[in-house]
This record gives sequence, C-alpha cells and structure tokens, in this order.
Amino acid sequence: MKAIFYTLLLFSLSIHSNEKPNIILFLVDDMGLMDTSVPFLTDGKGQAVKHPLNSYYKTPGMERLTQSGLIMSQFYANSVCSPTRATLMTGQSSARHRITQFIKPESKNSGSFGPENWKWEGLSNKDITLPSILSKGGYRTIHCGKAHFAPIGHEGENPQKIGFDINIAGCAFGAPGSYLGMENFGQKNPKRRKRAVPGLDQYHGKDIFLTEALTQEVKKAISKSVEDKKPFFAYMSHYAVHSPFEADSRFSKNYKDSGKAKSAQNYATLIEGMDKSLNDILNHLDTLNIAENTLVIFIGDNGSDAPLGKTHTVASSAPLRGKKGTHYEGGMRVPFIASWARNSKNALQNSFKISNTVVDQNFAKVSDIFPTILDAAGINKPDSHTIDGTSLRKLLSGDANSHPQQFLMHFPHSHRSSYFTVFRDGDYKLVFHYKKEGKEKYELFNLVKDPYEENNLASSDSETLKAMLSKMRSGLEKCNAQYPHKGDKKTLIKPE
Ligand code: CA
Repeated sequence: MKAIFYTLLLFSLSIHSNEKPNIILFLVDDMGLMDTSVPFLTDGKGQAVKHPLNSYYKTPGMERLTQSGLIMSQFYANSVCSPTRATLMTGQSSARHRITQFIKPESKNSGSFGPENWKWEGLSNKDITLPSILSKGGYRTIHCGKAHFAPIGHEGENPQKIGFDINIAGCAFGAPGSYLGMENFGQKNPKRRKRAVPGLDQYHGKDIFLTEALTQEVKKAISKSVEDKKPFFAYMSHYAVHSPFEADSRFSKNYKDSGKAKSAQNYATLIEGMDKSLNDILNHLDTLNIAENTLVIFIGDNGSDAPLGKTHTVASSAPLRGKKGTHYEGGMRVPFIASWARNSKNALQNSFKISNTVVDQNFAKVSDIFPTILDAAGINKPDSHTIDGTSLRKLLSGDANSHPQQFLMHFPHSHRSSYFTVFRDGDYKLVFHYKKEGKEKYELFNLVKDPYEENNLASSDSETLKAMLSKMRSGLEKCNAQYPHKGDKKTLIKPE
C-alpha cells in the first residue's frame, strides 16, 4: 500500500515539475519609476522612502503585487518606446537590434545627423523573437494592446507576423486616437481617425475606457487558453499611460482637489485605470485557480511622461532628474516588479524562486527580460541568436550581487535629448553627447554618491572618464552600433 502511495506521489510530482508556468508581461507605456504609490526608491539601506509623487498616485494593484514579489529601485529601459519594445522581443540592446529610434508609422525619422539605415522597418518574421520561441515551445502567445513594432505597410505592424498567436488591438502606432469607447477609440474624430485603435468594434459607442476594454479581452483570451489546457504568455501592453491625456472618469474624483493641472490629474486617472487592470487580472487568475502557476513581471517601457514641469529638470519623476526621451535617470528608469500571482510552495515556484524584497543596490535592464522569461519557461533560445541580457533567476531568488552591472543605451537620433549614448558601469554613468562641443560632450555621474545627477565629474575625474569612455566604445563596437554623422551621411562621429 505504502509503495503504491509513493509511486503515485512521485508520479504526481513529476507531472508537476514538467508543468510550464503561465507568464504575464505587464507593460505600461510611458510609465516612470515615480508614477505610483509604491515607493521604489530607498534610503540606500533597503528601506523604502515615500516621495511626494508616491502620495499623489494611487496604485493598490501594484501594492498588492509587491506584497509577494521583488521590486527593483534601478531597472533600466530605453528613453523612448520602440527601442525598448524591440529589446523585449529580441533580448538585444538597441545598439545591436538597430531599432534605435521610436518608429513613426508613416515616415522614417532618422534625424538630420542620425544613421540612415537604422531599422525603421521594424521587426519582421525573419527576426527571432520571444513569442516565436515560446510559441514553438508549446505556449499560446497572446498580444494585447500597444504593439508599435513596425511602421504602416510593413510586416511587423501585425504582431501575429512576429510570433504572437493572438493579436488584440495591436498595430503600427503607439498613441491611441482616443481612449473612449464613445469615440470608437478615435474613429469618430476626423483628426485622430488614422490612429483609431483597431479590433475593438464590439465596444464602439459604449461608455468604456480603452484600458478596461483591453482588460476584458485579455481575460477572455486567458480563460480560453486555460480551457484549451495550453500554458500562455500574455504580453499585456497597455496603451495607457501614453498621451492623449484623456481622463479615465472612473477615477477623476480622486485627483480633483490635488491642486495639480487638469492634464496631470488626467494622467493620474490613466495610471489608476492601468492599476485596476492589473488588480482585475490578478483576481481573474485566482478565479481560474491558476494564480500559483502564473508568473507576473511588471515594467514600464521608458521614463515618465507625466505632464509636470520642464523636460530636463527634477519634476516628472522627482526626485529623479529628467523625463521620457532624456538621458537622465528620469528618462530611462522604470518600475520593475516580479512575483508569482499567488505565493505557494509548489514545485514550479520552488524551481523559480522570487524573494519578497527590494533590490536597491544592484541594477538590471530591459534586455534581461527575454532570457528571464525563457529561463522560467524552461525553453532555450537558438544558439545562433546573440543577446545582451542575462536571466534574472539568481537576482530574483535573492542573490543580486552576481548580476552583471553594465547597461548600454544608444540613441543616435533627435528627440528631447538628442544624439547620445548612456553607459552605466557599476557606480558610474557616462553620457556621451555626439553633437555637443568641448566639455559639453561628457557627463559623468557617480550614481551611488549622487543619485540625482547634480555633480558632473567629467572635468574633475578624468581618469574615470577615460576608463568609462573606453568601455563604452568597446560596448558599442561589440554590438556593431551605428553612429551619427556630421551631416553628409558619411563622416561618422564616434565617442572619443
Ligand atoms: Ca513609451
């Protein structure tokens, strides 16, 4: 009898350990580190510190996820959209995959001095992508929301061409025509019609916000996957909180007495609506009884675009300097939370541990997501596919010290900050400005001593500057990066 019992036990354990986790990558457009009631910054000793913006925003869903998960104070994305999205799909840094600028849907926006042959045409079915690998590995791959992988008329404008089995509302552009169902998500307005969000006709003319419509649709796709007994990878990529800053009226009353401008109040409603989506999805996983087998990773795609103050100052992401599109920390630091949707001691969670802690001394980066998800899924990437990230497995289990401490962000184009490369190595961050002259070319910060980038050390610490420049150059060369030119499309400018 005992023997039969143990045989049955072993059999059930072996089934369990072969089981694949469901994975949700919850990606919020233009959400920075400070656009939340979760304090991501600490006193430097692991203790979270609330700043005024944390008291302004309301994100109980994120707070719920942090109760069981791990959060990072220093997680890097790119300063704009498409480069980060292409990095999530390929595991490569922007210097390597060459989608270095945000993709304008109708025209190539290289900039007067930017490389002409950057990959404006975006991703295609020739690219090895995270969803295509997962799909081949037995996952149902669900795309919901903003895609922005390729311009209009190019293959990758349809997420189903780059590895997703299902596409809900994803297309070539990033900014929705309208968030309002009553406006048919942009279709009713002749000026915004070409940005009308596709694929949600069943909500047209209804009093529903885009964030809510996407949430209801992704929940259906998740239910169907469970019904079909397929593990799923859901890329829940909200259009929120990108402009236009329309109010999600369900939450307007929470900000009307804040004293902040109407646009900043509306922005906060977009945040709270996105957060309700997270909470609703977590509840749905509980209802389906799959929360213990579902890994959730929450990130933003670039720094905050909160309509507060000036671009390069301490405002949008206070106390961090800068906002979306800039080379300062406020432009490129995003929230990161990883957690199982419900904690358990099951075999799946034992094989991929996530400690309930704040990692504030070590940093990680958006190219780490690709190998992390494949690692959790137990699927290998093709050997021929080079990536720049490292699985976060050890860091998530509580061993942050062994994670590589380098990050390269290459932006050879024009935007709020133009023609620059950022290189973080350990405590230091170097910014090289290709089109500036003399001393203006370099900004060097010790982010441990000077987290808010107030003291440029480029002139006073020439030794570190030289060492950082040399490492930046070799990082760029290793990726075969494309450089800005002097205006003739031929004479390249390189960091020196
Ligand atoms: Ca974005």
